[in-house]
Amino acid sequence: MIWRHDRRGTYSVKSCSDVLDLVLLAENSPIQSYVWKVLAPQKVEGFLWLAVLNKLNTKDSICRKGITDAATNVCPFSHSSTETAAHLFLHGLKVWKLWCWIYSWWECERVVPRSVYDLFTNWNY
Ligand SMILES: [Zn+2]
Repeated sequence: MIWRHDRRGTYSVKSCSDVLDLVLLAENSPIQSYVWKVLAPQKVEGFLWLAVLNKLNTKDSICRKGITDAATNVCPFSHSSTETAAHLFLHGLKVWKLWCWIYSWWECERVVPRSVYDLFTNWNY
């Protein structure tokens, strides 16, 4: 088997990330540099990258792929909302309270973004 997105035909996470960037993001999008800063272990940055691309295997995404039933895609913490990446990282009650605390700590008022992607693209670094 040959990975056609690499000159040697060898698959690597980096070459896959490059392909995803080309397909999913504009070439001049700064979001790639926001995530891949080598400030955290590669596994953490990879997980964050999947969250930004909305490619995490949340209960909602697994349900939409037909793997599980819609009745099982509820957040295990709130038992009332669908478990999406945005819910887990931005809108769930506990994490929303955390964001409110962070915003007050930074003495700024913000609206919690609608997606993890928006979280990264709404800030200036
Ligand atoms: Zn929840």
